[in-house]
Amino acid sequence: MNKICVRCNQVKNFRHFLGEKQVCKLCIATKTQEKLDSIRSVDLGINAIDESFDEITLLSPTLRGTKKIMLSEAIDYVEKGSAQVHSSNTIYLLKKDDYQPDPLLREIVLSKDDYTCHYCGNEGDTVDHIVPYSSGGETKEDNLVCSCFDCNILKSDLSYDYFKKNYKRMKWEYQRKRTAKEQRRNKALKKHVRYYEKPTIDEIKDIKTLANTSSESKGGLTLEEMMRKAGLK
Ligand SMILES: [Zn+2]
Ligand SMILES: [Zn+2]
Repeated sequence: MNKICVRCNQVKNFRHFLGEKQVCKLCIATKTQEKLDSIRSVDLGINAIDESFDEITLLSPTLRGTKKIMLSEAIDYVEKGSAQVHSSNTIYLLKKDDYQPDPLLREIVLSKDDYTCHYCGNEGDTVDHIVPYSSGGETKEDNLVCSCFDCNILKSDLSYDYFKKNYKRMKWEYQRKRTAKEQRRNKALKKHVRYYEKPTIDEIKDIKTLANTSSESKGGLTLEEMMRKAGLK
């Protein structure tokens, strides 16, 4: 299950590619990082904002998305020092902290671990801090591992040793809770469907009239079958 990247020419496992893309995730991240670095190097200052625009484009810290915001909101961001001005109608939102790794660092960690969760061995696409960020763990390559979404949620800011020791029990409890939640939701959904599928009074009248006519017009159904179909039985 390998594929060759048309940019770095390396043969890699399918997990290193996004869907049908011919370029590996690491190469894509390298490009994103170049773009990000060039955006970060530009800071035109608040006077560069053209106030004739009603809306300003806001670039997210890791360039994962853009958003249109009101001019006043944009000025507020820049004045507070949480964004820098990239062009007359674009501002770049600065990271609040170093918790989130840059796109390239993120992909380096995931690629090194073969997109395989460090904790459970399933496919993973998030990075997890070994020493939690809240305990002073840094967002650096040697403190990050690939993790699946579930394990990442479970570990949260627990220490690595504690999590490793209690992993099995925690995972079991997590899955049990999730199954219970799903069952509750399915039950609620069933109830909802039953309620909305009840026929209206007019529909009931139609069924009763139909029941008194010839059997061809009933579509070959008996009265009982028709009533059951309509949810009356
Ligand atoms: Zn590549
Ligand atoms: Zn996992």
